[in-house]
Amino acid sequence: MDQNSPEVMTAIQAAIKASVLCEKIRMGLAGGESLLKSDRSPVTIADYGAQAIICKLIRERFPNDTIVAEEDSRELRRPDRSKILGQVTGYVNAFIPVSSSEEVCSWIDFGSNSITDRFWALDPIDGTKGFLRGDQYAIALALIEKGEVKLGILVCPNLYADIHHPFGERGCLFLALKGKGSFQMDRRGANKRSIFVSKVTSPSEAVITESAEPDHADHLAHRRLAQKLNISKPSLRMDSQAKYGVLARGEVTLYLRVPSSAEPGYKENIWDHAAGSIIAEEAGGRVTDVRGRRLDFSSRIKMEENHGILVSNGILHEAVLKALEM
Ligand code: AMP
Ligand code: MG
Repeated sequence: MDQNSPEVMTAIQAAIKASVLCEKIRMGLAGGESLLKSDRSPVTIADYGAQAIICKLIRERFPNDTIVAEEDSRELRRPDRSKILGQVTGYVNAFIPVSSSEEVCSWIDFGSNSITDRFWALDPIDGTKGFLRGDQYAIALALIEKGEVKLGILVCPNLYADIHHPFGERGCLFLALKGKGSFQMDRRGANKRSIFVSKVTSPSEAVITESAEPDHADHLAHRRLAQKLNISKPSLRMDSQAKYGVLARGEVTLYLRVPSSAEPGYKENIWDHAAGSIIAEEAGGRVTDVRGRRLDFSSRIKMEENHGILVSNGILHEAVLKALEM
């Protein structure tokens, strides 16, 4: 698959449209106050809207492909959700002409649960808590063939493009193709450049990134590991697969996700890691679980055989796995 293949063009176009919809909804929330409200309707509208757009455009171009996606329309069809459904329909219609709310529901339901030989994995909004807080979130889309990720796209609408200009332009698109490298573009899909992981060789120089949510990973275990490896730099807490993006472009060295002690048996979803993992790997990084096993995208939505996540610049991977064993 190359940069100009229909899969890449369609996926980029769909993910960008979905990200513009999400930003429109996020910006429409009046001020920071309502972003913090427990009312989850904004994220719901954005989730459904983004999934409808991406599923519709992928299905139209690749009618034989399966799409494994996080949402379905069941809730949305409930009579007491009709206002939300109306809003979703209105937002989607600004991007793709819609004849009815029913049609939007049918696009959302192009998403299914079945893993096939060739399928797309979609998280329409990864990092919903970050989205509501006004922090990081990502539209994550990957194409998987025979268990191997061939194409990954992350749109991170609220991520600074350049760490040296943290108040500069926001919005990044990460793209990776199997065997062809990883790239960053701006949020419109222009100004493409290759990205590479950091060349840090000493664990003590490493910077860790981890979830912003204390319930999503064992931050205490991460701190203990940092001490073992003499890592003194503060860790970067960030929502969503944006963590894979900042690692792939060399800003951090390690992404750690030891399962939280409150939920030690938690199993990761394929759509939470498929796109991010190829972006890190094609930039020169390595991705396994915390026991050194490769991530299994071949069998189920839940990665039952894996435990947590470890992403590194490759160089430090074995040293970190060893420290995790102790
Ligand atoms: P992050 O922003 O890195 O915390 O990742 C967000 C993702 O964490 C969501 O898409 C959820 O699928 C996932 N998640 C939800 N609960 C947990 C949990 N207890 N442990 C690990 N991940 C979780
Ligand atoms: Mg997610």
